Amino acid sequence: MPPKRAYETIIGLEVHAEMQTASKMFCGCPVVDFTTAAPNTAVCPVCSGMPGVLPVVNEQAVEYALRVALALECTIAETSIFARKNYFYPDLPKGYQISQYEHPLAENGRLVIPSKAGGCLVRVRRVHLEEDTGKLTHRTDPETGETFSLVDLNRSGVALLEIVSEPDMRSAAEARAYGEALRRILRYLGVNSGDMQKGVMRFEANVSVRPAGSDWLGNRVEIKNLNSFRALERAIAYEAERQRAILEAGEMVEQQTVGWDEAAQQTVIQRSKEEAHDYRYFPEPDLPPLVVSPEWVERVRASLPELPQAKMRRFEREYGLPAETAALLAEEPATADYFETLAHATKAAPRTAANWLTGALFALLNAREGSAPSESLPAEAFAALLDLLDEGLINQNTAKSVLEEMLASGESALTIVERRGLRQISDEAAVAAAVEKVLAAHPAQVAQYRAGKSGLLHFLFGQVMRETRGQADPQVVRRLLNRRLHPDT
Ligand SMILES: [Zn+2]
Repeated sequence: MPPKRAYETIIGLEVHAEMQTASKMFCGCPVVDFTTAAPNTAVCPVCSGMPGVLPVVNEQAVEYALRVALALECTIAETSIFARKNYFYPDLPKGYQISQYEHPLAENGRLVIPSKAGGCLVRVRRVHLEEDTGKLTHRTDPETGETFSLVDLNRSGVALLEIVSEPDMRSAAEARAYGEALRRILRYLGVNSGDMQKGVMRFEANVSVRPAGSDWLGNRVEIKNLNSFRALERAIAYEAERQRAILEAGEMVEQQTVGWDEAAQQTVIQRSKEEAHDYRYFPEPDLPPLVVSPEWVERVRASLPELPQAKMRRFEREYGLPAETAALLAEEPATADYFETLAHATKAAPRTAANWLTGALFALLNAREGSAPSESLPAEAFAALLDLLDEGLINQNTAKSVLEEMLASGESALTIVERRGLRQISDEAAVAAAVEKVLAAHPAQVAQYRAGKSGLLHFLFGQVMRETRGQADPQVVRRLLNRRLHPDT
């Protein structure tokens, strides 16, 4: 068999993100939760495409778009133009979508995504504003078997940001990391909830495969409507493998648009090149050019918060945290803020605070349906618990059980410790008495230990802890046990 040739996968992503403005892009209708609101309750003549109405640009949506574009280090166009993208579909009542085409709001940005190799640069080709479509629900009549579709225009006209990358990603995992990094940034900027299940972020991937090292550009396949990171990663991996097999067989990949079939875990053809859309773009006659003054851009730039990557690096540097812990804490702005309040409020080392937050507290909150730390336990109260641990008043195990009780009862750490008599026993005489009692009760194990079965030390240690109801200072127990079992050393 000839050696298998190496191929490389070329991936570009288009990301659609809804802007969480109060009202829609071109009318005053409120933006509602499409998954729960009654259908067609947030609709007016503008977003339902009635004749004779005029759109008005939502200033907040432009400001949100600027935030994203600046966070992605784009160049902002002082003048950009809205354009009509013409096509017919039942969820698009006007028969066209207002978008931006030749003159987008922002271009030439970049995003460095975290990777094992230390970071991979993805260039951002453009960021532009447009409006979302309505939503179709396809049904089958249980009696007649006839299929029909329901139209909900609540989403029609909601401000949508399209972020288009250059084809700079080389694996499904990289594409996922880029998508996740973008989501983090959007959430940090407060422009999108990142709630993937509600479809507020959607991906389209352009995938092509070529022999490694060549600069030949094969036909690319566009994968539409990927609504989760899992679907994004799997669809790209599947498509790359499918194209590789075609090239291996000496054939050509056809340019086409495909969808991802979640149930079958494969891509399915939606249309080929011959059926490609011609959207007949032209400038939107009902809207003037969008002018963004340099002063506005500078104001927005100055208001940008610290971004996730920068925060992560600062946590590593300022608090001496390992990269993984820093990344975990920087994932959500609220968690990051909580950590900083905690770290400043406690006498314990920041690293200890970070470990308790990402370890014990996260685990307890996950078990309680994952509520946010700030909603469950004030950072100052958590800090007081870590102080008791730091002062040696309680040991690790006690701290864990006190933490659990604090979440349940809302009482302070000290109140619980005093009420339940949980103070750590560091008093050598008390611990020594417990050690004597345990050794006297287990003569056989002591003999076996002395005969070389060293694992029994753990057993004896456990018994002393049990004897002290878990409250003995483990270091004192270890020291006294060793002294008693090895009197010569
Ligand atoms: Zn409306």
